[in-house]
Amino acid sequence: MAKILVTGGTGYIGSHTVVELQKVGFEVVIVDNLSNSNIEVLNGIEKITGIRPAFENIDCTDYMALDRMFEKYPGIEAIIHFAASKAVGESVEKPLLYYRNNLTSLINLLQLMPIHKVKHFVFSSSCTVYGQPDELPVTENAPIKPALSPYGNTKQICEEIIQDTSHSNPFYRAIILRYFNPIGAHPSAEIGELPNGVPNNLLPYVTQTAAGLRKELKVFGNDYNTPDGTCIRDYINVVDLAKAHVIAVQRLLDEKGEKAVEIFNLGTGTGLSVLDIVNTFERVNGVKVPHSFAPRREGDIEKVWADPTRANTVLGWKAQETVEDTLKSAWTWECRLAKLREEKAANAEE
Ligand code: UDP
Repeated sequence: MAKILVTGGTGYIGSHTVVELQKVGFEVVIVDNLSNSNIEVLNGIEKITGIRPAFENIDCTDYMALDRMFEKYPGIEAIIHFAASKAVGESVEKPLLYYRNNLTSLINLLQLMPIHKVKHFVFSSSCTVYGQPDELPVTENAPIKPALSPYGNTKQICEEIIQDTSHSNPFYRAIILRYFNPIGAHPSAEIGELPNGVPNNLLPYVTQTAAGLRKELKVFGNDYNTPDGTCIRDYINVVDLAKAHVIAVQRLLDEKGEKAVEIFNLGTGTGLSVLDIVNTFERVNGVKVPHSFAPRREGDIEKVWADPTRANTVLGWKAQETVEDTLKSAWTWECRLAKLREEKAANAEE
């Protein structure tokens, strides 16, 4: 089966996607600079699939290194491009880092594609491009709103770069996937999210609070115009999300695309509030998540959830996992991390 380059393949969504690709027989080459992931993720992938993917420690802003990688692995047919900086707050403090990483990486790959005869490209985008949509659920046709952070802006600009590049040269075939809020972990608990330092995202903060690593969760804002006053998001299981990438790559390889660049929302279609998540997490896992209300977080959208009809009908993909099972998988993964930490501490004492 086809050889696929996965940039950012040791990251959170990347690693789950590598597993799903290998499970159906794709050959995977991972490129990652390990800036926000750990090489041990390869062990987890190997444990689940029985296959250790090829790995190259390369920064995608390094054009020459990428060029050499394509020479070393001839016959790559498609790229799934996850590698990017993704922390909203950090992007406000270090905009140039974000523009350099996220734009240069994309440009390098797009430039190298025709040289190495790689036609197919899947891009990780985000529902952040919609800002606060005027209509909910939000469809792919909703207008793009001015970005609220440099991170969000990089996703918008990257989408435009892909559109312009494809327009200039019919060689390219691309699928842009707009993720809503990915959560959970692989049911084996061999891979999951590995946040660096204090988590920014809700779910790792919830699991770390339940595990006692954080004193309490601050719920940012309880005076929004929503039923319980907290923000609403569309939380999508990471394995479901990963499976959508396999379908997208296959669609490109089969040349089934109706347009040179297709765009799909990847969400469940259901909006849940921060309190829904906290309460459901506590109920299904039988643990407490101490929490209190705090002021609104700057830049937060009040409510957004997907209309996933296009992905459902055109890709034949649909989110399968319940939020209950997804929240259980997140907790199982956090418990696994706690066990690994204990083992490391014990080994260090010996
Ligand atoms: N959130 C929260 N406390 C936290 C982290 C997040 O209340 O410590 C809220 C945040 O305000 C938003 C939701 O959880 O309403 C999802 O935030 P996250 O950062 O996970 O994703 P976003 O939708 O902002 O990309």
